[in-house]
Amino acid sequence: MKPLYVRVNPLDNVAIVVNPEGLSSGSVFECGLVLKETIPQAHKVALVDIAPDGEVIRYGQAIGSARRAICRGSWVREELLTLPEPPALDRAPFAAATPVPAPPLEGVTFDGYRNADGSAGTKNILGITTTVQCVAPTVEFAVRRIKAEILPRYGGVDDVIAITHPYGCGVAIDAPGAEIPIRTIRNLALHPNLGGEAMVVSLGCEKLQPARLFAIGEDAPWMVRLQDEQYGGFGDMVAAIMALAEKRLEKLSRRTRVPCPASDLVVGLQCGGSDAFSGVTANPAVGHAADLLVRAGATVMFSEVTEVRDAAHLLTARAADADVARALVRELAWYDAYLARGGADRSANPTPGNKRGGLANIVEKALGSVAKAGTTAIMAVTGPGERVTSKGLVFAATPASDFVCGTLQAAAGMTVHVFTTGEGTPYGLAMAPVIKVASRTTLARRWPDLIDVDAGRIATGDATIEEVGREIFELILDTASGRKRTWSDRWGLHNAPSLFNPAPVT
Ligand code: CA
Repeated sequence: MKPLYVRVNPLDNVAIVVNPEGLSSGSVFECGLVLKETIPQAHKVALVDIAPDGEVIRYGQAIGSARRAICRGSWVREELLTLPEPPALDRAPFAAATPVPAPPLEGVTFDGYRNADGSAGTKNILGITTTVQCVAPTVEFAVRRIKAEILPRYGGVDDVIAITHPYGCGVAIDAPGAEIPIRTIRNLALHPNLGGEAMVVSLGCEKLQPARLFAIGEDAPWMVRLQDEQYGGFGDMVAAIMALAEKRLEKLSRRTRVPCPASDLVVGLQCGGSDAFSGVTANPAVGHAADLLVRAGATVMFSEVTEVRDAAHLLTARAADADVARALVRELAWYDAYLARGGADRSANPTPGNKRGGLANIVEKALGSVAKAGTTAIMAVTGPGERVTSKGLVFAATPASDFVCGTLQAAAGMTVHVFTTGEGTPYGLAMAPVIKVASRTTLARRWPDLIDVDAGRIATGDATIEEVGREIFELILDTASGRKRTWSDRWGLHNAPSLFNPAPVT
């Protein structure tokens, strides 16, 4: 393979090395550029001489300034860059460059499960929600037995899952921020892939009473309360959970897939283990798929506050109107304050893996990350754990942590998850299928039984962003319809729900 680099934007004065083994000092690119030192794959090479304090530009934006002179052809490493200040939120341009809607894609459908609340699922799962951690092992015990003894009799139901979490008691339940874990649990329980109807196991004495989650009375139909006097010990509790589960399975097994318009689809986008290729291959390809989904009428969520914070000025400009831009600033400012309370800031985000993968800092990571969100207008903004109700592109504010973001996007109503990765992760969720898109062909080849889409072909010129984007779009529809299974579903790799609780534990 001849020496190859990718430059994203004509304004960029750095590019990233494509060759899987990296390139040694003295390598010559087609344009005549000679490497001054050995540079690993996905790391940056200076395309021109950069003066001390000169801006280092990638994605057409400054990702930092040079601590000292950087020669043309040398390796632009993390330690050579200073981190710029984040864009000021009080000067963010509101709806200054709202994109014009692209022509709609008519007639796009998927085969989903229609729910009474109007939502449509992509899976047919019995989910048992817990109100408190105390009941979790009991519910997990019951779920093992339900899967072994009852589920085989109910064809058409994909899975039985326990929605467990550490919340529910020993928490300051009325403190600011407590509404986040509470509404997350409620919205998970009512997820479209669980039939849009909750089955709950409560202990009895916990702070998070079921009535706080759902508008139900003492005799709620789909609930077991373990401390009720009628249960004489563990065997009775498990029997009660199993009996209720069987009733739900009967109901769920009567459901069949029906054609649903793409407007019933809710797709959540996320990245994890990003590298310098993520923003060149996987994220732009997912961005193209996002544009197609939006044109087809679907809801597409992007999230991960700390990874978009440095692109705030680009996002507020893309808002559909000033109210949406204001809501975006509100969520980002809330998160700034949340991080400041812990003595952290957004520079705490990049991991050792990100840096090994060529990402110098959070600015570079953020600019690559927002490529996932495509090019359409941002139609709405929701807080962590809130249910998304708007169509089109939505910013659902969440932390960037893979499991926390995935859990909050599920609470927001996500029925298909698209996850881009550079370093690789076997991540998956029980509640919604997770399509994993690799930023590099080397990863896709090394993990052929974990990665669903290889976007690395874009860097080598073997496929275009549009081609891979179209492939992802089709795979989303096939996965939503149950025609294709993701690798994480085939292996049953399902990360546990992970709540975001910014409020005190007592
Ligand atoms: Ca993430």
